[in-house]
This record gives sequence, structure tokens and C-alpha cells, in this order.
Amino acid sequence: MIRIFFKYATILIIILQGELLAQNDLSQKLYDKYSESIFHSIEHKRFSHSDLMNALNQFSNSKIIDISTAGYSVEGREIKLIKIGSGKINIMAWSQMHGDESTATMALLDLLNFFENDNEFSALKKEILEKVTLYIIPMLNPDGTERFRRRNEMDIDLNRDALRLQFPESKILKKIQEETNPKFAFNLHDQSTRYTVGNSYKVATISFLAPAYNYEKDINEVRKNSMQLISELTTNLEQFIPGHIAKYSDEFEPRAFGDNFVKWGSSLILIESGGWKNNYEKSFLRKMNFIAIVLGIESIANKNYENESIEIYDNIPENQKLLFDLLLRNVTIEKNNHKFIIDIGINQNEVGTSDKRDFYFIGEIEDIGDLSTFYGFDELDCTGFTIDTAMVYPEKYENFDAVKNIDIIPILMKGYSYVQVDSLNIKEKFSKIPINLIETEKAKSTKIEIGSNANFRLLKDNKVQFVCVNGFLFDVRSGKNSIQNGLIVK
Ligand SMILES: [Zn+2]
Repeated sequence: MIRIFFKYATILIIILQGELLAQNDLSQKLYDKYSESIFHSIEHKRFSHSDLMNALNQFSNSKIIDISTAGYSVEGREIKLIKIGSGKINIMAWSQMHGDESTATMALLDLLNFFENDNEFSALKKEILEKVTLYIIPMLNPDGTERFRRRNEMDIDLNRDALRLQFPESKILKKIQEETNPKFAFNLHDQSTRYTVGNSYKVATISFLAPAYNYEKDINEVRKNSMQLISELTTNLEQFIPGHIAKYSDEFEPRAFGDNFVKWGSSLILIESGGWKNNYEKSFLRKMNFIAIVLGIESIANKNYENESIEIYDNIPENQKLLFDLLLRNVTIEKNNHKFIIDIGINQNEVGTSDKRDFYFIGEIEDIGDLSTFYGFDELDCTGFTIDTAMVYPEKYENFDAVKNIDIIPILMKGYSYVQVDSLNIKEKFSKIPINLIETEKAKSTKIEIGSNANFRLLKDNKVQFVCVNGFLFDVRSGKNSIQNGLIVK
């Protein structure tokens, strides 16, 4: 009897291991072969609504992908509905209900390529599309996207309109939910790039959530399914981004769509694309999204998630905000002949260009003091370094063209953060020149305080070691330059 038990237990373990291996195998294959599915026409995250329409047009002759009009935004921009598959299990997915959260829209274009192209996944895709039908809305908020901002043209956060359902974009989402009654739904967003996984130093690259459907955060069958699926996705993605998966806050929000989808009977998975070092166009986050979505669909089709425990989900650490883009530790600052040791947290905030289709950085001092409980994407131990105010290069230039052609590096080497120009008649507030340009005689503040543009010097034995220009460091000792752009101060 015991022998039989062990025999069956062994077989069971082998089967379970086999299943786990199979899934790991699929995620590894998706990871390795991802480049074959990248939708190359869109590689910058600030693409417009018309860029997306052109992209979707490339699938107009597809035999697999059906694209129709779901409706129109407040300003009359078309919102598309993509249908793939013929299976009984309906799955909904939507992206960019917040206009400046475009990572998942790019991943969804990769998903279309994945299904459309001939590749080694053909048998798997056939199996999946016989079992599920996908209903996808890429870019639910095109008016917000046009301005590359969260809210729509009327300054409404569409994710707070699930109760009143007043705005056309929200009505589209609700209508498709009612028509398809999806068993699962993917709600796809971008979150801050500076969340950490719990109290760790690791950035939250992907954050998941199985939203609550009431204030008590009860777990019913619908919510449990979301948790099980997230457990599976977490295990799989951990291979590629170990320690970089977090959980979004699970406070019940009665006005949000995710929470209401659960109420309406769909197992909802919130996926938030977070941060990854120097991944400004979010290509790596896009890849992680793509893998998560394909694995999720496969799991729903084959009901793999049913074997998962919710323990893995429960143990995912929550998002914390403990990261700066640049953290300088143990800086010496002098005041009235006294010396103090401080840390300086700097964020390199992205700002849209005037047409919103590109961006530049404004580096701001975010916090000063004891920041020993925080972390930085980049950190510098400044023990023995004294901070001093930024300097203006004494030589003046006539205009932008004159300064464009000079070598800035020797000026940085001498510790300057600003160059004076008589007349700066250019439209944008930044330039790719790695130093700030300031109109001659214009006042500028060089005070080292919270909220100010981060420009200063770090000295040792009265010699400049580092120059900070617009929140980025230039290493005088090695000549290493990390300055992404300078500002134009008029
Ligand atoms: Zn969002």
C-alpha cells in the first residue's frame, strides 16, 4: 500500500515538474524569440493616435486579426477593437486608458505580430485561439495620448468613471464588457519608474494586482482566479527580473474599472509597467509585458492557473517609493564654518517637448538630509567631497549657433555648469548640448535646495571632482559624461 502511494506520489511529482518545466520552457522561448515579434514601426513611447492607426492598418488583410471601430473619443478620435480567436473563453484587454502610459500598447502590437507571423509557436497559437477569443482595445484614451498626459481632453481620469460611465471612452469599455462577458481581463498601465519592491533597493519593473471588489478585500472565486494567474506569471517572470516584481496597492477604489470588472464577474489582472535602469523608451518593459500577456492567455486557455496557489500572490511585496534617479550619499556641506553631512536625492524628471512627441529631462533636487533609508538608480558615495554652488563660464557667446560648435568637455572639466549666450532665440527649453545655456545678465539661482534645478560642484582638497548639470553628473576625474541634456535659461 505504502509502496503504491509512493509510486503514485512520484508520478504526480514528475507530472507537476513536467508542467512547471513546460511553462518555464515557453517563457524562455518567448524571451529568446521576442525580437521576431517586435513591431518595429513604433519604437518610441510617445507615438500618436495616428501612428497607432497606421500601425493597425498593417493588419487590415489579416486572416487571424479582425479590427473594427469600437467608438470615438470626446474629440472624435477613433478607438479600435481587435478580435482574435474563436474560442469559448472570452478575454478582454485594454491599454492606455491613461494617455501617457503607452508601454502595453506597444506590447499589444508585438502580440498582434506574434499571432500574425509564421513562427515556431504556430501549433500553440492554433490551440490557444480555438479555446479563447481575445477582445483588445489598444489606446482607450487617444485624446490624452495626443497631449501625452494621464487624463482625457476634459481633464477627466477615465479610471474614475466606472460608476457614472459618462464619457464615451468609458462607455466603450463597459459596452464591450457587457457584450463579451469576459472570464478574464487585463488592465494595462504604467506606474512610476521609481517604485521599489517592498523595502528592497530593487525597482518594481512589473507590478501586479488582483483588485478588490469591496472594502473588506474579500476573496471570491473570481478574484481568486486572478490571484492564481498572477502567481503563475510571477513565477515565470522572476526568471528574467528576479526580485523586480511587486504588488500594486490593493485598496478598494469603487470608481475604478478594475475593481468594477471584478464586481461584474471578470477575473481582472492589473499589470503596471514600472522602471528599469536607463530604459527611457521602455523597450525592456514592453518585452516583459509581451511575455506576461502571452503566458497569461496560454494559461487561461489551458487552465494552468487552476493548479496555482494564491500564496505566491500573497507574498509579493507591495510597491514602495524609495528610489531616486541619482542619490549622493555623505556629502559635506559647509555653513557658517560648520560642516554637516547630508544626502541629496535627485530626480531626472521627463518633460514633453512642445509637440509632445519627444521629451527631455529637468533634474530636480527632490530631498536633502538623512536619506539612508532610500536608494538611487545611480548612487555615489561622496565621503570627503564638499558641495559648492554652480559656476558660470566667463566667456560669452553670441547665439545658439556659436555655442553649438564648441567643445563643451573642457568647460565641464573646469567645473562649470552654465555657458552665457547673448541671445537665445530658440523654441525649446532644452538643448542636447551637455551644459545649461543662460542668456547673458539673466539671474539664475544656484541655491542647493529642494525643488531647484540640480547644478553644483563636488570638490575634494579644493579640486573639482564632479560637476552636476541639470541633475546629471560629469566625472571630472575620468571624463565620464552622463548628462542627457542641458536646459535653456531665458
Ligand atoms: Zn494608469
